[in-house]
Amino acid sequence: THFGSKTVPMSSKADLVGEVFSSVAGNYDVMNDVMSAGVHRLWKDYFVSDVMRVGETTSYLSQNPPTPTSPPIPYFRHLDVAGGTGDISFRSLDSINLSLSHPPHTPPTPGIPCPATVTVCDINPDMLRVGESRAVELYSSHNVEKMSDRTSEDGLSSSKPLSFWEGDAQSLPFEDDTFDIYSICFGLRNVTEPDKAIEDAYRILKPGGRLLIMEFSHPKNDAIAAAYDAYSFNVIPEMGERIAGDRDSYQYLVESIRKFYKQEELVDVMKEKGFVEVGYEELNFGVVAIHSGWKI
Ligand code: SAM
Repeated sequence: THFGSKTVPMSSKADLVGEVFSSVAGNYDVMNDVMSAGVHRLWKDYFVSDVMRVGETTSYLSQNPPTPTSPPIPYFRHLDVAGGTGDISFRSLDSINLSLSHPPHTPPTPGIPCPATVTVCDINPDMLRVGESRAVELYSSHNVEKMSDRTSEDGLSSSKPLSFWEGDAQSLPFEDDTFDIYSICFGLRNVTEPDKAIEDAYRILKPGGRLLIMEFSHPKNDAIAAAYDAYSFNVIPEMGERIAGDRDSYQYLVESIRKFYKQEELVDVMKEKGFVEVGYEELNFGVVAIHSGWKI
């Protein structure tokens, strides 16, 4: 694999991805705003509030498709994989607080399980630590279980609404049939073997649970594809150099988007791993796609 000025064998993709995200962690949130002119916020808002509808979503088994009037499942569990600095989890938590009429930011009662929890899992502790500090600032430490709060034997927290976990999407540190929603946002293309991550998503979802993938994709319109190519190959690495002093990491990000599955290919992998009702929706002419599938 050619990566900026370096040539990297495929086997070290995991090391490379680790270096890239440790290197960008401190600037990650600012760079997202700069490179997408803030549009990533709209994509994430849409993903969580219109597609995921966490607090409203019921199980596939009890009602399909879920409607805004279907009752929330008690003890609803959302896992956000490759959750990085927390963008998806914060939106999810806010929508749960709203739809379950919980006053946001109030401390949970110790020993009483939260009706809904959001778990962030990422392979990179540097990204997670940025997420943890943002979370504590937003929700106070009463509501946030950090990586350092947990001893290795501890299972999934049930008394704090938001928790942070270090783990690999290809072999998640959670038991089978645990979560109602698995989301992965701009993360799957960074996983060494994305198929394995989809297989593990199937394992940890409850029957009736839903997999949602938001990822950069491939515009089908030639003119848009050409404009997008010009922007990503010329402008993004240059911005990475000038703003974050890190051309190589941003060159990697662009190349990883080009190599990732086409829309239909990802549908096929999801079906092959057992998901049903698999489909996708394109945003901004296919610059981004949201894939969805259910475990039954
Ligand atoms: N989801 C966040 C967002 O949308 O802002 C972060 C996306 S960031 C582009 C990609 C994330 O994927 C990084 O935080 C990286 O550490 C994580 N990642 C890469 N490989 C992973 C793996 N095998 N398992 C879990 N996370 C991984």
